[in-house]
Amino acid sequence: MTDKELAELIFPNITKTPEDYEKIYPERKLESGAAVSRFAPSPTGFVHMGSLLTTVIERKIPDETNGVFYLRIEDTDQKRSVENGIKGIVDDLKNFEIKIDEGALGEDEEIGDYGPYIQSKRKEIYECYAKDLISKGLAYPCFCTPEELDETRNLQELNKERIGYYGSFAKCRNLSNEERAERIKNGEPYIIRLKSPGNYENKVMFNDLVRGKIVFPENDLDVVLIKSDGLPIYHFAHAIDDHLMRTTHVLRGEEWLSSVPVHIQLFKILGFELPQYAHLGLVMKIDEETGAKRKLSKRKDKEAAVSFYHEQGIPVEAVKLYLMTIGNSNFEEWLNQNPDASINDFKFNFKKMSASGSLFDLEKLINISRNYISRLKAQEVYERALKHSKEFDTEFYELLTKYKDYCVNMFNIEREQKKPRKDYAMFSEIKGYTWYMFDELFTGDINYEFQSINDLEEIKNILKVYLEKYYNEEDDEQTWFERLKDLSEELGYAREVKEYKENPDNYKGHVGDISMVLRVALSSKSMTPNLYQIMKLFGRERLTNRFNLVINK
Ligand code: GLU
Repeated sequence: MTDKELAELIFPNITKTPEDYEKIYPERKLESGAAVSRFAPSPTGFVHMGSLLTTVIERKIPDETNGVFYLRIEDTDQKRSVENGIKGIVDDLKNFEIKIDEGALGEDEEIGDYGPYIQSKRKEIYECYAKDLISKGLAYPCFCTPEELDETRNLQELNKERIGYYGSFAKCRNLSNEERAERIKNGEPYIIRLKSPGNYENKVMFNDLVRGKIVFPENDLDVVLIKSDGLPIYHFAHAIDDHLMRTTHVLRGEEWLSSVPVHIQLFKILGFELPQYAHLGLVMKIDEETGAKRKLSKRKDKEAAVSFYHEQGIPVEAVKLYLMTIGNSNFEEWLNQNPDASINDFKFNFKKMSASGSLFDLEKLINISRNYISRLKAQEVYERALKHSKEFDTEFYELLTKYKDYCVNMFNIEREQKKPRKDYAMFSEIKGYTWYMFDELFTGDINYEFQSINDLEEIKNILKVYLEKYYNEEDDEQTWFERLKDLSEELGYAREVKEYKENPDNYKGHVGDISMVLRVALSSKSMTPNLYQIMKLFGRERLTNRFNLVINK
Protein backbone atom coordinates (compact mmCIF):
# COMPACT_ATOMS: atom_id res chain seq x y z
CA MET A 1 0.00 0.00 0.00
CA THR A 2 1.44 3.37 -0.94
CA ASP A 3 1.51 6.41 1.38
CA LYS A 4 -0.91 8.07 -0.97
CA GLU A 5 -3.40 5.24 -0.62
CA LEU A 6 -3.06 5.36 3.15
CA ALA A 7 -3.76 9.10 3.10
CA GLU A 8 -6.81 8.47 0.97
CA LEU A 9 -8.03 5.82 3.40
CA ILE A 10 -7.69 8.18 6.36
CA PHE A 11 -9.15 11.30 4.74
CA PRO A 12 -11.47 10.09 1.98
CA ASN A 13 -13.57 13.26 2.07
CA ILE A 14 -10.74 15.72 1.67
CA THR A 15 -10.59 16.77 -1.95
CA LYS A 16 -8.81 20.11 -1.74
CA THR A 17 -5.03 20.30 -1.91
CA PRO A 18 -2.55 22.70 -0.32
CA GLU A 19 -2.28 24.39 -3.73
CA ASP A 20 -6.00 25.14 -3.59
CA TYR A 21 -5.55 26.90 -0.26
CA GLU A 22 -2.66 28.92 -1.62
CA LYS A 23 -5.12 30.29 -4.16
CA ILE A 24 -7.94 30.83 -1.70
CA TYR A 25 -5.63 32.74 0.66
CA PRO A 26 -3.20 34.52 -1.62
CA GLU A 27 -0.37 36.67 -0.38
CA ARG A 28 -1.69 39.94 0.94
CA LYS A 29 -1.38 43.01 -1.20
CA LEU A 30 0.39 45.25 1.27
CA GLU A 31 3.27 47.68 1.05
CA SER A 32 6.61 46.07 1.50
CA GLY A 33 7.51 45.94 5.18
CA ALA A 34 3.88 45.93 6.28
CA ALA A 35 3.42 43.80 9.40
CA VAL A 36 0.61 41.31 9.77
CA SER A 37 0.12 40.35 13.40
CA ARG A 38 -2.54 38.59 15.32
CA PHE A 39 -3.95 38.00 18.75
CA ALA A 40 -4.67 34.29 19.13
CA PRO A 41 -6.36 33.58 22.45
CA SER A 42 -8.37 30.61 23.57
CA PRO A 43 -12.01 31.65 24.00
CA THR A 44 -11.75 32.10 27.75
CA GLY A 45 -14.17 35.01 27.89
CA PHE A 46 -11.80 37.76 28.93
CA VAL A 47 -8.45 39.34 28.19
CA HIS A 48 -5.81 39.13 30.89
CA MET A 49 -3.64 42.19 31.48
CA GLY A 50 -0.57 40.34 30.19
CA SER A 51 -2.37 39.59 26.94
CA LEU A 52 -3.50 43.18 26.71
CA LEU A 53 0.13 44.26 26.71
CA THR A 54 0.73 41.82 23.85
CA THR A 55 -2.27 43.08 21.88
CA VAL A 56 -1.22 46.71 22.32
CA ILE A 57 2.06 45.81 20.62
CA GLU A 58 0.37 43.56 18.09
CA ARG A 59 -1.83 46.48 17.13
CA LYS A 60 1.03 48.95 17.16
CA ILE A 61 3.35 47.26 14.67
CA PRO A 62 0.81 47.11 11.82
CA ASP A 63 -0.21 50.66 12.71
CA GLU A 64 3.37 51.74 12.13
CA THR A 65 3.63 49.92 8.80
CA ASN A 66 0.12 50.03 7.29
CA GLY A 67 -0.31 46.37 8.04
CA VAL A 68 -3.08 44.22 9.43
CA PHE A 69 -4.02 43.07 12.91
CA TYR A 70 -6.47 40.22 13.27
CA LEU A 71 -8.11 38.12 15.96
CA ARG A 72 -7.95 34.35 15.68
CA ILE A 73 -9.71 32.17 18.19
CA GLU A 74 -7.76 29.08 19.19
CA ASP A 75 -10.38 26.68 20.43
CA THR A 76 -8.83 23.35 19.56
CA ASP A 77 -8.36 22.61 23.23
CA GLN A 78 -12.02 22.40 24.17
CA LYS A 79 -11.18 22.36 27.89
CA ARG A 80 -10.16 26.01 27.71
CA SER A 81 -13.34 27.22 26.05
CA VAL A 82 -16.16 28.83 27.99
CA GLU A 83 -19.61 29.83 26.86
CA ASN A 84 -19.65 33.24 25.16
CA GLY A 85 -15.87 33.08 25.41
CA ILE A 86 -15.36 34.89 22.13
CA LYS A 87 -17.74 37.71 22.94
CA GLY A 88 -15.95 38.44 26.20
CA ILE A 89 -12.67 38.81 24.37
CA VAL A 90 -14.13 40.92 21.59
CA ASP A 91 -15.80 43.19 24.17
CA ASP A 92 -12.61 43.61 26.17
CA LEU A 93 -10.71 44.59 23.04
CA LYS A 94 -13.48 46.99 22.09
CA ASN A 95 -13.44 48.58 25.55
CA PHE A 96 -9.74 49.08 25.13
CA GLU A 97 -10.16 50.57 21.70
CA ILE A 98 -7.95 47.95 20.13
CA LYS A 99 -9.34 47.76 16.66
CA ILE A 100 -9.48 44.42 14.88
CA ASP A 101 -8.99 44.69 11.13
CA GLU A 102 -10.03 41.10 10.59
CA GLY A 103 -11.16 38.17 12.60
CA ALA A 104 -13.83 36.69 14.77
CA LEU A 105 -16.43 39.06 16.17
CA GLY A 106 -18.54 36.36 17.80
CA GLU A 107 -19.36 32.66 17.49
CA ASP A 108 -20.87 33.13 14.05
CA GLU A 109 -19.67 36.48 12.91
CA GLU A 110 -16.39 37.55 11.42
CA ILE A 111 -14.77 39.98 9.01
CA GLY A 112 -11.89 39.48 6.59
CA ASP A 113 -10.90 37.34 3.62
CA TYR A 114 -8.58 34.95 5.43
CA GLY A 115 -11.13 33.15 7.61
CA PRO A 116 -12.61 31.19 9.15
CA TYR A 117 -10.86 32.82 12.10
CA ILE A 118 -12.06 30.24 14.61
CA GLN A 119 -9.89 27.15 14.54
CA SER A 120 -12.65 24.61 15.17
CA LYS A 121 -14.17 25.79 11.88
CA ARG A 122 -10.95 25.07 10.01
CA LYS A 123 -10.91 21.33 10.53
CA GLU A 124 -10.98 20.58 6.81
CA ILE A 125 -7.97 22.78 6.20
CA TYR A 126 -5.85 21.01 8.81
CA GLU A 127 -6.98 17.66 7.46
CA CYS A 128 -5.94 18.65 3.98
CA TYR A 129 -2.39 19.35 5.12
CA ALA A 130 -2.29 16.21 7.27
CA LYS A 131 -3.42 14.20 4.29
CA ASP A 132 -0.75 15.78 2.16
CA LEU A 133 1.97 14.98 4.71
CA ILE A 134 0.80 11.36 5.04
CA SER A 135 0.79 10.95 1.30
CA LYS A 136 4.39 12.14 1.26
CA GLY A 137 5.43 9.77 4.07
CA LEU A 138 5.96 12.71 6.47
CA ALA A 139 3.16 11.81 8.87
CA TYR A 140 1.52 8.63 10.05
CA PRO A 141 -1.30 7.28 12.21
CA CYS A 142 -0.29 6.30 15.73
CA PHE A 143 -2.28 3.74 17.67
CA CYS A 144 -0.47 3.95 20.99
CA THR A 145 -2.88 4.12 23.91
CA PRO A 146 -2.42 6.64 26.73
CA GLU A 147 -1.31 3.72 28.94
CA GLU A 148 1.38 2.70 26.47
CA LEU A 149 2.59 6.28 26.25
CA ASP A 150 2.74 6.51 30.06
CA GLU A 151 4.71 3.32 30.14
CA THR A 152 7.25 4.65 27.67
CA ARG A 153 7.52 7.83 29.67
CA ASN A 154 8.11 5.99 32.93
CA LEU A 155 10.76 3.91 31.28
CA GLN A 156 12.47 7.01 29.93
CA GLU A 157 12.40 8.63 33.36
CA LEU A 158 13.77 5.51 34.98
CA ASN A 159 16.65 5.29 32.52
CA LYS A 160 17.22 9.06 32.59
CA GLU A 161 16.51 9.32 28.91
CA ARG A 162 15.05 12.23 27.02
CA ILE A 163 11.24 12.20 27.32
CA GLY A 164 9.16 11.96 24.20
CA TYR A 165 8.01 10.00 21.19
CA TYR A 166 11.13 9.66 19.05
CA GLY A 167 13.59 7.15 17.64
CA SER A 168 13.00 3.64 18.92
CA PHE A 169 10.33 4.93 21.31
CA ALA A 170 8.20 5.92 18.34
CA LYS A 171 6.55 2.53 18.11
CA CYS A 172 4.08 3.30 15.37
CA ARG A 173 6.59 5.08 13.17
CA ASN A 174 7.74 1.95 11.39
CA LEU A 175 4.51 0.03 11.03
CA SER A 176 3.80 -1.03 7.49
CA ASN A 177 1.04 0.77 5.68
CA GLU A 178 -0.76 -2.57 5.39
CA GLU A 179 -0.81 -2.96 9.16
CA ARG A 180 -1.91 0.65 9.58
CA ALA A 181 -4.75 0.16 7.13
CA GLU A 182 -5.76 -3.05 8.83
CA ARG A 183 -5.91 -1.47 12.28
CA ILE A 184 -7.82 1.54 10.99
CA LYS A 185 -10.34 -0.73 9.30
CA ASN A 186 -10.70 -2.63 12.58
CA GLY A 187 -11.79 0.60 14.19
CA GLU A 188 -8.75 1.09 16.42
CA PRO A 189 -8.53 4.70 17.64
CA TYR A 190 -5.53 6.69 16.40
CA ILE A 191 -3.99 10.09 16.12
CA ILE A 192 -1.78 11.57 13.41
CA ARG A 193 1.88 12.19 14.15
CA LEU A 194 4.64 13.96 12.33
CA LYS A 195 7.39 11.69 11.08
CA SER A 196 10.15 14.01 12.16
CA PRO A 197 13.11 14.10 9.81
CA GLY A 198 15.20 15.83 12.51
CA ASN A 199 18.31 14.75 14.36
CA TYR A 200 18.75 15.83 17.96
CA GLU A 201 22.51 16.14 17.43
CA ASN A 202 22.00 18.89 14.85
CA LYS A 203 21.49 22.52 15.79
CA VAL A 204 18.87 24.96 14.58
CA MET A 205 19.13 28.68 15.02
CA PHE A 206 16.56 31.40 14.92
CA ASN A 207 16.42 35.07 15.70
CA ASP A 208 13.90 36.11 18.31
CA LEU A 209 12.91 39.75 18.02
CA VAL A 210 13.21 40.23 21.77
CA ARG A 211 15.85 37.70 22.75
CA GLY A 212 18.12 37.75 19.73
CA LYS A 213 19.84 34.65 18.34
CA ILE A 214 18.83 31.38 19.95
CA VAL A 215 20.28 27.97 19.18
CA PHE A 216 18.37 24.77 19.88
CA PRO A 217 18.86 21.08 19.11
CA GLU A 218 16.87 20.10 16.06
CA ASN A 219 13.48 18.54 16.72
CA ASP A 220 13.32 14.79 16.40
CA LEU A 221 10.03 14.25 18.22
CA ASP A 222 7.18 12.76 16.27
CA VAL A 223 4.81 15.37 17.67
CA VAL A 224 1.06 14.97 17.42
CA LEU A 225 -0.50 16.85 14.51
CA ILE A 226 -4.11 15.75 14.83
CA LYS A 227 -5.59 14.59 18.12
CA SER A 228 -8.10 11.80 18.65
CA ASP A 229 -10.96 14.33 18.53
CA GLY A 230 -9.93 15.19 14.98
CA LEU A 231 -8.68 18.66 15.89
CA PRO A 232 -5.09 19.78 15.44
CA ILE A 233 -2.58 20.36 18.18
CA TYR A 234 -1.28 23.92 18.62
CA HIS A 235 1.95 23.43 16.62
CA PHE A 236 0.20 22.22 13.52
CA ALA A 237 -2.58 24.80 13.63
CA HIS A 238 -0.03 27.55 14.27
CA ALA A 239 1.98 26.66 11.17
CA ILE A 240 -1.02 26.33 8.87
CA ASP A 241 -2.99 29.30 10.15
CA ASP A 242 -0.14 31.73 10.40
CA HIS A 243 0.95 30.77 6.93
CA LEU A 244 -2.47 30.94 5.30
CA MET A 245 -3.40 34.11 7.12
CA ARG A 246 -0.07 35.51 5.99
CA THR A 247 1.15 36.48 9.45
CA THR A 248 4.53 38.17 9.49
CA HIS A 249 4.93 38.66 13.26
CA VAL A 250 4.07 36.11 15.91
CA LEU A 251 4.07 37.59 19.42
CA ARG A 252 3.38 35.05 22.11
CA GLY A 253 4.24 33.97 25.62
CA GLU A 254 7.70 32.66 26.43
CA GLU A 255 6.17 29.28 27.26
CA TRP A 256 6.23 28.62 23.51
CA LEU A 257 9.94 29.28 23.13
CA SER A 258 10.99 25.66 23.62
CA SER A 259 8.58 24.59 20.86
CA VAL A 260 10.26 26.74 18.24
CA PRO A 261 12.36 23.83 16.86
CA VAL A 262 9.11 21.95 16.19
CA HIS A 263 7.71 25.00 14.45
CA ILE A 264 10.81 25.57 12.37
CA GLN A 265 10.61 21.97 11.22
CA LEU A 266 6.90 22.08 10.47
CA PHE A 267 7.16 25.28 8.47
CA LYS A 268 9.99 23.78 6.49
CA ILE A 269 8.23 20.50 5.76
CA LEU A 270 5.06 22.32 4.78
CA GLY A 271 7.02 24.64 2.52
CA PHE A 272 6.06 27.78 4.44
CA GLU A 273 8.14 30.81 5.18
CA LEU A 274 8.86 31.20 8.90
CA PRO A 275 7.30 34.32 10.49
CA GLN A 276 9.27 36.55 12.84
CA TYR A 277 8.88 35.51 16.43
CA ALA A 278 8.85 37.59 19.58
CA HIS A 279 8.55 35.57 22.76
CA LEU A 280 7.41 37.84 25.52
CA GLY A 281 8.25 37.43 29.19
CA LEU A 282 5.61 37.16 31.87
CA VAL A 283 3.85 40.12 33.36
CA MET A 284 4.57 39.91 37.07
CA LYS A 285 3.87 41.86 40.20
CA ILE A 286 5.26 42.16 43.69
CA ASP A 287 3.06 40.14 45.98
CA GLU A 288 1.56 42.42 48.67
CA GLU A 289 2.01 39.82 51.38
CA THR A 290 5.29 38.14 50.64
CA GLY A 291 7.04 40.97 48.79
CA ALA A 292 8.20 38.43 46.21
CA LYS A 293 7.81 38.69 42.45
CA ARG A 294 5.15 36.46 41.01
CA LYS A 295 2.98 36.12 37.95
CA LEU A 296 0.06 38.55 37.74
CA SER A 297 -2.80 36.23 38.51
CA LYS A 298 -6.33 36.45 37.25
CA ARG A 299 -7.54 34.67 40.37
CA LYS A 300 -5.75 36.80 42.95
CA ASP A 301 -5.28 40.22 41.37
CA LYS A 302 -8.12 42.54 40.53
CA GLU A 303 -5.82 44.49 38.24
CA ALA A 304 -5.24 41.42 36.06
CA ALA A 305 -8.72 41.64 34.53
CA VAL A 306 -9.12 44.38 31.99
CA SER A 307 -12.75 44.87 33.09
CA PHE A 308 -11.34 46.36 36.32
CA TYR A 309 -10.15 49.47 34.46
CA HIS A 310 -13.47 49.95 32.77
CA GLU A 311 -15.35 49.66 36.06
CA GLN A 312 -13.01 52.05 37.85
CA GLY A 313 -13.11 54.50 34.98
CA ILE A 314 -9.39 54.51 34.35
CA PRO A 315 -9.03 55.91 30.85
CA VAL A 316 -8.06 53.43 28.18
CA GLU A 317 -5.36 55.81 27.01
CA ALA A 318 -3.76 55.83 30.45
CA VAL A 319 -3.71 52.04 30.61
CA LYS A 320 -2.13 51.91 27.17
CA LEU A 321 0.45 54.51 28.13
CA TYR A 322 1.31 52.48 31.17
CA LEU A 323 1.52 49.24 29.22
CA MET A 324 3.85 50.90 26.79
CA THR A 325 6.10 51.97 29.66
CA ILE A 326 6.48 48.35 30.70
CA GLY A 327 6.62 47.26 27.06
CA ASN A 328 9.47 49.49 25.94
CA SER A 329 12.11 50.65 28.39
CA ASN A 330 12.62 53.99 26.64
CA PHE A 331 8.94 54.90 26.45
CA GLU A 332 8.63 56.62 29.79
CA GLU A 333 11.46 58.99 29.05
CA TRP A 334 9.98 59.69 25.64
CA LEU A 335 6.62 60.40 27.24
CA ASN A 336 8.16 62.81 29.72
CA GLN A 337 9.76 64.66 26.84
CA ASN A 338 6.59 64.60 24.75
CA PRO A 339 3.79 64.84 27.30
CA ASP A 340 1.21 65.85 24.73
CA ALA A 341 2.16 63.35 22.05
CA SER A 342 0.09 60.26 21.40
CA ILE A 343 1.33 56.69 21.60
CA ASN A 344 1.01 56.65 17.82
CA ASP A 345 3.95 58.99 17.55
CA PHE A 346 6.21 56.59 19.41
CA LYS A 347 8.18 54.04 17.44
CA PHE A 348 8.02 50.63 19.05
CA ASN A 349 11.25 48.68 19.30
CA PHE A 350 11.41 44.97 20.17
CA LYS A 351 14.99 45.41 21.30
CA LYS A 352 13.77 47.64 24.12
CA MET A 353 11.57 44.91 25.52
CA SER A 354 12.67 43.06 28.58
CA ALA A 355 13.23 39.38 27.89
CA SER A 356 12.85 38.55 31.55
CA GLY A 357 9.32 39.89 31.74
CA SER A 358 7.84 43.05 33.13
CA LEU A 359 6.71 44.18 36.51
CA PHE A 360 3.17 45.44 36.72
CA ASP A 361 2.70 48.22 39.22
CA LEU A 362 -0.86 49.39 39.68
CA GLU A 363 0.24 52.44 41.68
CA LYS A 364 2.31 53.62 38.76
CA LEU A 365 -0.53 53.04 36.35
CA ILE A 366 -2.81 55.07 38.61
CA ASN A 367 -0.28 57.87 38.63
CA ILE A 368 -0.13 57.92 34.87
CA SER A 369 -3.89 57.99 34.84
CA ARG A 370 -3.97 60.93 37.27
CA ASN A 371 -1.57 62.83 35.05
CA TYR A 372 -3.56 61.95 32.00
CA ILE A 373 -6.87 63.10 33.45
CA SER A 374 -5.31 66.32 34.74
CA ARG A 375 -4.45 67.25 31.16
CA LEU A 376 -7.95 66.76 29.82
CA LYS A 377 -10.16 69.76 29.15
CA ALA A 378 -13.00 70.31 31.60
CA GLN A 379 -15.59 69.52 28.97
CA GLU A 380 -13.86 66.22 28.25
CA VAL A 381 -13.71 65.32 31.93
CA TYR A 382 -17.39 66.10 32.14
CA GLU A 383 -18.27 63.87 29.23
CA ARG A 384 -16.21 60.97 30.45
CA ALA A 385 -17.52 61.28 34.00
CA LEU A 386 -21.02 61.33 32.56
CA LYS A 387 -20.38 58.19 30.54
CA HIS A 388 -18.85 56.35 33.46
CA SER A 389 -21.56 57.33 35.94
CA LYS A 390 -24.26 56.39 33.45
CA GLU A 391 -23.06 52.82 33.71
CA PHE A 392 -21.97 52.69 37.34
CA ASP A 393 -23.58 55.47 39.44
CA THR A 394 -27.08 56.62 38.57
CA GLU A 395 -27.25 59.19 41.35
CA PHE A 396 -24.12 60.96 40.18
CA TYR A 397 -25.19 60.65 36.57
CA GLU A 398 -28.40 62.51 37.35
CA LEU A 399 -26.55 65.30 39.12
CA LEU A 400 -24.08 65.68 36.27
CA THR A 401 -26.96 65.83 33.81
CA LYS A 402 -29.01 68.30 35.86
CA TYR A 403 -26.15 70.72 36.54
CA LYS A 404 -24.20 70.41 33.34
CA ASP A 405 -22.67 73.90 33.08
CA TYR A 406 -22.03 74.07 36.80
CA CYS A 407 -20.19 70.75 36.61
CA VAL A 408 -18.07 71.73 33.65
CA ASN A 409 -17.09 74.87 35.58
CA MET A 410 -16.39 72.78 38.62
CA PHE A 411 -14.10 70.51 36.61
CA ASN A 412 -12.42 73.58 35.27
CA ILE A 413 -11.14 74.72 38.66
CA GLU A 414 -7.33 74.66 38.41
CA ARG A 415 -7.48 72.88 35.07
CA GLU A 416 -6.51 74.01 31.57
CA GLN A 417 -3.41 75.71 32.88
CA LYS A 418 0.29 74.98 32.74
CA LYS A 419 0.36 72.97 35.95
CA PRO A 420 -3.13 71.59 36.26
CA ARG A 421 -4.45 70.19 39.51
CA LYS A 422 -3.88 66.45 39.74
CA ASP A 423 -6.73 65.07 41.70
CA TYR A 424 -8.73 62.34 40.04
CA ALA A 425 -6.97 59.21 38.84
CA MET A 426 -10.18 57.47 37.82
CA PHE A 427 -13.70 58.51 37.07
CA SER A 428 -15.11 56.41 39.89
CA GLU A 429 -13.30 58.74 42.33
CA ILE A 430 -14.83 61.98 41.18
CA LYS A 431 -17.97 61.82 43.26
CA GLY A 432 -15.88 61.17 46.36
CA TYR A 433 -13.91 64.33 45.63
CA THR A 434 -16.76 66.61 44.64
CA TRP A 435 -19.82 65.51 46.57
CA TYR A 436 -19.89 68.66 48.72
CA MET A 437 -20.37 70.71 45.59
CA PHE A 438 -23.90 69.30 45.33
CA ASP A 439 -26.59 70.28 47.82
CA GLU A 440 -28.28 66.94 47.19
CA LEU A 441 -25.24 65.13 48.55
CA PHE A 442 -24.31 67.62 51.27
CA THR A 443 -27.14 66.92 53.68
CA GLY A 444 -27.57 65.07 56.93
CA ASP A 445 -24.84 64.49 59.42
CA ILE A 446 -21.71 66.17 58.19
CA ASN A 447 -18.52 65.63 60.07
CA TYR A 448 -16.81 69.01 59.81
CA GLU A 449 -13.04 68.98 59.91
CA PHE A 450 -12.50 72.39 61.51
CA GLN A 451 -8.84 72.86 62.19
CA SER A 452 -7.11 75.28 64.53
CA ILE A 453 -10.24 77.23 65.39
CA ASN A 454 -12.50 74.79 67.14
CA ASP A 455 -14.81 76.86 69.32
CA LEU A 456 -18.22 76.63 67.68
CA GLU A 457 -19.35 80.10 68.84
CA GLU A 458 -16.20 81.63 67.40
CA ILE A 459 -16.75 79.77 64.13
CA LYS A 460 -20.35 80.94 63.93
CA ASN A 461 -19.28 84.48 64.56
CA ILE A 462 -16.63 84.40 61.84
CA LEU A 463 -19.18 83.14 59.32
CA LYS A 464 -21.81 85.69 60.35
CA VAL A 465 -19.48 88.67 60.21
CA TYR A 466 -18.10 87.49 56.91
CA LEU A 467 -21.54 87.26 55.33
CA GLU A 468 -22.68 90.56 56.76
CA LYS A 469 -19.66 92.72 56.08
CA TYR A 470 -17.04 91.15 53.88
CA TYR A 471 -18.65 88.86 51.34
CA ASN A 472 -19.24 90.30 47.91
CA GLU A 473 -20.17 87.94 45.11
CA GLU A 474 -18.63 90.24 42.52
CA ASP A 475 -15.14 90.47 43.98
CA ASP A 476 -12.15 89.36 41.98
CA GLU A 477 -9.75 86.98 43.66
CA GLN A 478 -7.40 89.60 44.95
CA THR A 479 -10.12 91.76 46.47
CA TRP A 480 -11.74 88.68 47.93
CA PHE A 481 -8.53 87.87 49.70
CA GLU A 482 -8.05 91.43 50.93
CA ARG A 483 -11.48 91.22 52.49
CA LEU A 484 -10.56 87.99 54.25
CA LYS A 485 -7.65 89.87 55.73
CA ASP A 486 -9.93 92.72 56.78
CA LEU A 487 -12.18 90.20 58.45
CA SER A 488 -9.21 88.64 60.21
CA GLU A 489 -8.07 91.98 61.51
CA GLU A 490 -11.50 92.92 62.78
CA LEU A 491 -11.74 89.69 64.76
CA GLY A 492 -8.25 89.78 66.24
CA TYR A 493 -6.42 87.53 63.77
CA ALA A 494 -3.24 88.46 61.93
CA ARG A 495 -3.61 89.63 58.31
CA GLU A 496 -0.50 87.64 57.36
CA VAL A 497 0.79 84.32 58.60
CA LYS A 498 4.20 85.90 58.95
CA GLU A 499 2.95 88.59 61.32
CA TYR A 500 1.37 85.94 63.44
CA LYS A 501 4.51 83.85 63.57
CA GLU A 502 6.55 86.84 64.68
CA ASN A 503 4.16 87.76 67.49
CA PRO A 504 1.87 84.84 68.22
CA ASP A 505 0.75 86.33 71.53
CA ASN A 506 -0.73 89.36 69.83
CA TYR A 507 -3.29 87.38 67.82
CA LYS A 508 -5.95 84.69 68.12
CA GLY A 509 -4.62 83.18 64.91
CA HIS A 510 -4.14 84.30 61.33
CA VAL A 511 -5.90 84.75 58.01
CA GLY A 512 -5.20 81.11 57.08
CA ASP A 513 -7.24 79.96 60.06
CA ILE A 514 -10.08 82.22 59.00
CA SER A 515 -10.15 80.95 55.44
CA MET A 516 -10.04 77.41 56.80
CA VAL A 517 -13.27 78.10 58.68
CA LEU A 518 -14.92 79.26 55.47
CA ARG A 519 -13.58 76.29 53.54
CA VAL A 520 -14.76 73.77 56.08
CA ALA A 521 -18.18 75.37 56.52
CA LEU A 522 -18.60 75.21 52.78
CA SER A 523 -17.27 71.74 52.12
CA SER A 524 -16.76 70.07 55.50
CA LYS A 525 -13.23 69.37 54.28
CA SER A 526 -9.93 70.93 55.17
CA MET A 527 -8.61 70.43 51.66
CA THR A 528 -10.36 71.53 48.51
CA PRO A 529 -9.40 73.09 45.21
CA ASN A 530 -9.21 76.88 45.03
CA LEU A 531 -11.64 78.25 47.61
CA TYR A 532 -12.31 81.50 45.80
CA GLN A 533 -13.41 79.66 42.68
CA ILE A 534 -15.58 77.28 44.63
CA MET A 535 -17.30 80.19 46.37
CA LYS A 536 -17.80 81.86 43.02
CA LEU A 537 -19.51 78.75 41.72
CA PHE A 538 -21.77 78.56 44.75
CA GLY A 539 -23.07 82.13 44.51
CA ARG A 540 -24.54 84.13 47.36
CA GLU A 541 -27.66 82.15 48.03
CA ARG A 542 -26.15 78.70 48.18
CA LEU A 543 -23.16 80.01 50.09
CA THR A 544 -25.40 81.61 52.70
CA ASN A 545 -27.43 78.43 53.04
CA ARG A 546 -24.31 76.38 53.47
CA PHE A 547 -22.88 78.68 56.15
CA ASN A 548 -26.24 78.74 57.90
CA LEU A 549 -25.99 74.99 58.40
CA VAL A 550 -23.13 75.76 60.78
CA ILE A 551 -24.49 79.04 62.14
CA ASN A 552 -27.75 77.34 63.14
CA LYS A 553 -26.06 74.46 64.86
N1 GLU B 1 -3.54 30.14 21.84
C1 GLU B 1 -2.17 30.34 22.17
C2 GLU B 1 -2.06 30.85 23.58
O1 GLU B 1 -3.03 31.39 24.08
C3 GLU B 1 -1.60 31.36 21.22
C4 GLU B 1 -0.15 31.46 21.17
C5 GLU B 1 0.16 32.25 19.93
O2 GLU B 1 -0.07 33.47 19.95
O3 GLU B 1 0.57 31.67 18.95
O4 GLU B 1 -1.05 30.68 24.21
